[in-house]
Amino acid sequence: MSFHHSSPIRIHAASLIAALWFVASCNGYSQVAPKYEVATWYQFKKAAVTYTFDDNTSKQLTVAIPIFDKYNFKATLFPVISWQPDWAGMQSASDRGHEVASHTVSHPHLDALSPAGQENELKTSQSIINSKIARARCLTIAYPFCAPSDENITRKFYIAGRICSGMIEKSTPQDFYRISALTAGSLGPFKVAADFNKIVSEAKDQGGWCVFMIHGIDDDGGYSPLQSKELNAHLAFVSAHPDDYWVATFLNAVKYIRERNALSVSETAVKRKSLKITVTDTLDHEIYNLPVTIRRELPAHWENAHVYAGGKTVNSSITSEGSKKFVVFDVMPGKESAYVIKAR
Ligand SMILES: [Zn+2]
Repeated sequence: MSFHHSSPIRIHAASLIAALWFVASCNGYSQVAPKYEVATWYQFKKAAVTYTFDDNTSKQLTVAIPIFDKYNFKATLFPVISWQPDWAGMQSASDRGHEVASHTVSHPHLDALSPAGQENELKTSQSIINSKIARARCLTIAYPFCAPSDENITRKFYIAGRICSGMIEKSTPQDFYRISALTAGSLGPFKVAADFNKIVSEAKDQGGWCVFMIHGIDDDGGYSPLQSKELNAHLAFVSAHPDDYWVATFLNAVKYIRERNALSVSETAVKRKSLKITVTDTLDHEIYNLPVTIRRELPAHWENAHVYAGGKTVNSSITSEGSKKFVVFDVMPGKESAYVIKAR
């Protein structure tokens, strides 16, 4: 019975270390307990991919979005308020998880407007979208002609803005108000499925984020039209590689990046058959409300584990890397503690 003799002491030491670590982590900085890892992209996918549609051209809602729905992927719509968006169609898309966000009221060169003129375009477009689209919040903007507004003004209304400098974004963009997009369609470098497939594969190798800027679809008269059959073939490719690509709206990718970078993960109790985990950040949870994926190396002699939070089972999976095994699961920062329980 020597095992029973020694084990309380060992548990005690581990709990003490966890408690000390927790105290050390309560200083407002992002810290992640040893043996834990926060996923760069949701569910440890290797890259994020975002599809944005500007100018509410007529076949975006009728042709392009149904292709996204077929694959259960979510896109971002950037309508221009004064160009008569189909608000009922936008609401329906929003209810299916697509984002509806700002491309201003009148599509001006924002950098040519006075500060008051810029503020009016940003503020009015946001408030109209918020009044037209229920159960969502307009928090991002695509600058017309990719010409940003003054960042101090943009910050008052939005958490991120899109330009089009033609680069794959890093896993953490240098400037959330100048997020690079890649121009799709007949006038850009991304015309056919193979062009899209190649650049998302590069993003996968870099662990980065591809943001596509799309306007016209087929013959709807929009700028730089993209053929829907090419879009469909590309999304079929992405769908065939579910471990590689996280398709996310512009807003959700921004939320995820900010949350994972701010996340503190602490192990607040360690027992022989359970671990207690507390996950926090200092962000505004009214805005930053997406779960973040983490993993924990399974303790020695654990073959399997289940995860619980708030009295419910959390979806989790077991992965391995070499001789190490991990339990992978999503956590909502600031919510009640999660428990990882040893299982057979
Ligand atoms: Zn536009």
